[in-house]
Amino acid sequence: MLYSDIASVFDKTERTSSRLEMTAILSDLFRTLEPRTLRSVVYLSQGKLHPDFFPQKLGMSDKLVLKAISLTSGFSENEVEKLSIKEGDPGTAAELLIGGKKQTALFSEPLTVERVIKNLVLIEGSEGKDSQERKMKLLANMLHDSGPIEARYLCRIVTGRMRVGAGSMTILDALALSFAEKSDRPEIERAFNVTCDMGMVAETLASGGMDAIRNVRVKLGNPIKVMLAERLPSLSEIMERMEGTCAMEYKYDGIRVQAHISEEGVRLYSRRLEDMTNNFPDIASSLKNALKGKEAIVEGECVSVNAKDGRMLPFQEVTHRRRKHGMEDAVKDYPVKIFLFDILQTDGEDTTDLPYPERRDILSHAFNDSDNIVMSHMQTVNSAAEAETFFTKALSDGCEGIMAKSVAGASVYRAGNRGFLWIKYKKDYHSDMTDTFDLAVVGAFYGMGKRKGRYGALLMASYDREMQTYATICKLGTGFDDAFLDSMPDLLDKYKTAGKPENVDSKMIPDVWFDPSVILEVTAAELSLSPIHTAAAGVFKEDAGLALRFPRFTGKVRNDKAPEDSTSVAEVMEMYGMQKI
Ligand code: AMP
Repeated sequence: MLYSDIASVFDKTERTSSRLEMTAILSDLFRTLEPRTLRSVVYLSQGKLHPDFFPQKLGMSDKLVLKAISLTSGFSENEVEKLSIKEGDPGTAAELLIGGKKQTALFSEPLTVERVIKNLVLIEGSEGKDSQERKMKLLANMLHDSGPIEARYLCRIVTGRMRVGAGSMTILDALALSFAEKSDRPEIERAFNVTCDMGMVAETLASGGMDAIRNVRVKLGNPIKVMLAERLPSLSEIMERMEGTCAMEYKYDGIRVQAHISEEGVRLYSRRLEDMTNNFPDIASSLKNALKGKEAIVEGECVSVNAKDGRMLPFQEVTHRRRKHGMEDAVKDYPVKIFLFDILQTDGEDTTDLPYPERRDILSHAFNDSDNIVMSHMQTVNSAAEAETFFTKALSDGCEGIMAKSVAGASVYRAGNRGFLWIKYKKDYHSDMTDTFDLAVVGAFYGMGKRKGRYGALLMASYDREMQTYATICKLGTGFDDAFLDSMPDLLDKYKTAGKPENVDSKMIPDVWFDPSVILEVTAAELSLSPIHTAAAGVFKEDAGLALRFPRFTGKVRNDKAPEDSTSVAEVMEMYGMQKI
């Protein structure tokens, strides 16, 4: 298959903002592909060669890419660079220059998908001496046989800028449309949620149909999308929703870790599916040593503890373990414990379909005693009064609240889902605020007065899952200390964009735009209707969206959350509803 056929589909999906249309365009392509090619094309459509959780090593520097464009197009490196800066993206520069009149394509051979993948694999694998030159030539080799659109996407893929607008949900829609019934969509999504491998799901569906999809199970080494909790405004409502009885666990304030333990070793994944094994080498080795069986996948919260008395410390402390260097010292200086709360696989058996009490029972017998591996504190609760006592105890023991967990027969582990099988309740709910919000930074305003020469305020957005856009919800200028103000350029500037990113929905125009990437935790007095912000625009009132009143940064940069994990517009709407009760 020619790469141009795929590039033109990427182009078409980029040009439409209608999810339905995007689905139809992708599905028309998917249907025509062999299962194996389909797998690669699905990865490529997300700018990758592998599933998300693989360390992607394609990243070529802009400079190298500009060199390849210059070599292929005949324009000088200076000319190419100027155009790239003007357009804000080497991909667009390549599109405008490749296939132009200066290019001489004497010996050209067709650019097939197979050839593109082969070259990208070689680029990825280039290491050591002369590797930069080799990468540049491999790209130039493909650009030589590219038309403008193919060139645009090649350059975007190798620089990590691939965004054709089709998110995972649209790809799942397209797969269901191509190879199954609409009603099969939830099962296809389940297969994705338990493996995080869209290419594998596509290949499995195209070759084995729905029967094969139903057989997809959790797999050691493939992170599983985490199960998430709903929230309710009071403990009595939680007990009502749980029909009078549930398990309550302490809600620890640390970093969620999913541990894949096998005889070969241990891999620890964050809730964003990043490999965090190097951040918690002590936890990884304790888990391996203490596991009674051969292999398991377990989840827990890593919390910093005081070295002397073992008391839990605030969230910020554990983030010291995110450093790149000096991990040996960090392990000594910032001891952590993991509080285990779930088990998803044990000795080859997928446990996600078992009810919570059975999983908890298996988990509680899975490990030998160990200093830094602890079971999350749990108690069966049968009344609102008991719940209140448990909650008070949780706070006095240094936790941020409780997690109520259903004990019903249907209380399975629902990967990637937020539902009422788990309900969280935090101390913030006791005050005026409904909850903290994890919001994406999409813009910045230059400061004035004392903040002159720095960013003074940020434009914050919430993720709209339906529209796959980031809708603004507040301008945030409170809660920044001097250290944070100084660190902002380092934190944000790498995500600067030339104009408003396509997936941002905003009426406000900041001085600088950012790709939604950095997540900050924000509190607020309340939610109110606002003509300026676009979150839930038109839902509660025509020409108004929802906005945070008196937003304040809590000091937490949520490195552990991906932008799509920011508090969603649906959750914000729910909180607005709760506030009005
Ligand atoms: P939130 O980030 O506020 O949506 O709360 C959900 C997070 O609480 C989970 O992703 C875990 O990181 C954390 N957590 C702490 N303790 C528990 C527990 N006992 N069970 C489940 N999640 C927990």
